Amino acid sequence: MGTLTMKFGGTSVGTTTALSQVLSIIIHESKRWDKVLIVASALEGVTDMLLEAAQLAQLSNQRGYRRIAATLRTRHMALIEQLPFGNTERNALQADIDRLLFDMLDQCQTVANNMNDELAPSVSDSIVAVGERLSARIIAALLRQNDLRGVAVDGTDIMITDNVHGNANPNIEATTNRVNEIILPMLERDIIPVVTGYIGVTEDGITTTLGRGGTDYTASVLSAIIGADELWIWTDVDGMMSADPREISTAHVIKELNYNEVAELAYFGAKILHAKMIGPLTEKSLPLRIKNVFKPQETGTLVSQDTHDDPPSIKAVTSIQALSLSRPTSGSMAGITKMVGNTLFKTLGMRSEVMISSQSSNSSFLCVVIPTSIGVDGVDRLQQGIEDKMSEYPEKMPWQIETVSVVTAIGNNLSHMPTLIAQVLAQLDNTEILGLALGPSNCSVSIAIATKKSQDAVKKIHYLTLKND
Ligand code: ASP
Ligand code: MG
Repeated sequence: MGTLTMKFGGTSVGTTTALSQVLSIIIHESKRWDKVLIVASALEGVTDMLLEAAQLAQLSNQRGYRRIAATLRTRHMALIEQLPFGNTERNALQADIDRLLFDMLDQCQTVANNMNDELAPSVSDSIVAVGERLSARIIAALLRQNDLRGVAVDGTDIMITDNVHGNANPNIEATTNRVNEIILPMLERDIIPVVTGYIGVTEDGITTTLGRGGTDYTASVLSAIIGADELWIWTDVDGMMSADPREISTAHVIKELNYNEVAELAYFGAKILHAKMIGPLTEKSLPLRIKNVFKPQETGTLVSQDTHDDPPSIKAVTSIQALSLSRPTSGSMAGITKMVGNTLFKTLGMRSEVMISSQSSNSSFLCVVIPTSIGVDGVDRLQQGIEDKMSEYPEKMPWQIETVSVVTAIGNNLSHMPTLIAQVLAQLDNTEILGLALGPSNCSVSIAIATKKSQDAVKKIHYLTLKND
């Protein structure tokens, strides 16, 4: 029945219970599909720990990063102890885990010995890459133990990227060549490749990463290249939700979304998906399903070209941190836009993503959204970078810089439905609107407001999604 790619996120590979689910899902689907490709994240929390280890190494805190390596070893070893492996497979896995963690320690040691001022992002990328290598090997071994032909494949052998460390972009042509050489022959021979998500390599052989949550991106790029018929993202929630369920108790699963809607949702803060993963799917009209690994029988969310939603409605609301710059004078915005763009690239490896900018006779406003794939400290890093730059030319830079929230309501065809937009704004009654943007995607309206007002605003706008249930 064609080719299926399945991506398993950190929460679906983090425990023996979850891994047993993963195994039964793969066994089930490999009977239904001709070819199956798996893309795996590191176990939940592992990437954060590895990033911390790299920071500790930078501070020459040997005890600190050794402690992390020991914790990671215990956790992975405990997992394979509890899984039903035969002795050969278990011994080989244990040796692999030891070797990978030894390499990681070695790299930390080198960082600790070098008295550099800053941790090079390329070094951090290669330390952090061990997380996905560990999990892909465990899943592949689990498949072999159950008579499936699982083979772990390192992203560094196939995912060729540019050199923007921490937020790298795939080079599709070069990656296609590698996939044709390595992955396609495996699929032809009924092998199930288990590819490490998130990590890639420059043409010069230096390890990169695709941004936090980047396993989704690996999965979508590879699915497009191999011409998969569907991509399923397995996670620990029931699908794309109408709001963050930790904040909004009435948040519900959205059954269907189109590519534009889901791209806006991911970009504006729905953490389930990496924002850049939608592009490759759209080009190929490749359907995407988001499913709960603990409830495989449920349909989850289907993302495709067309959705059947009559009449148009608000489907979801998100909130994301952003940085606002304002000044009490009008005039050209070109200088500040360029400066913000350059600082963004320097501090976060992102091209300019200024999203709301407006001017009146006596003031100017600019607002930049930081994608969640940058990591939790993205806004702070950018703020620091901009403040440093401004302090070089205080007279030319009378800008006030603040963190704000951007609340986004999403619904197909929203730009053509002024009454729906009016309903969104009506929910905000007394909240001061700092800036407003109607996305060119035609399915979102974003409102910049003070951070302390955002939770309340999300809650009120979310009522609109309930009306249509
Ligand atoms: N392990 C990486 C992260 O935590 C990539 C991913 O989970 O998709 O960001
Ligand atoms: Mg994710």
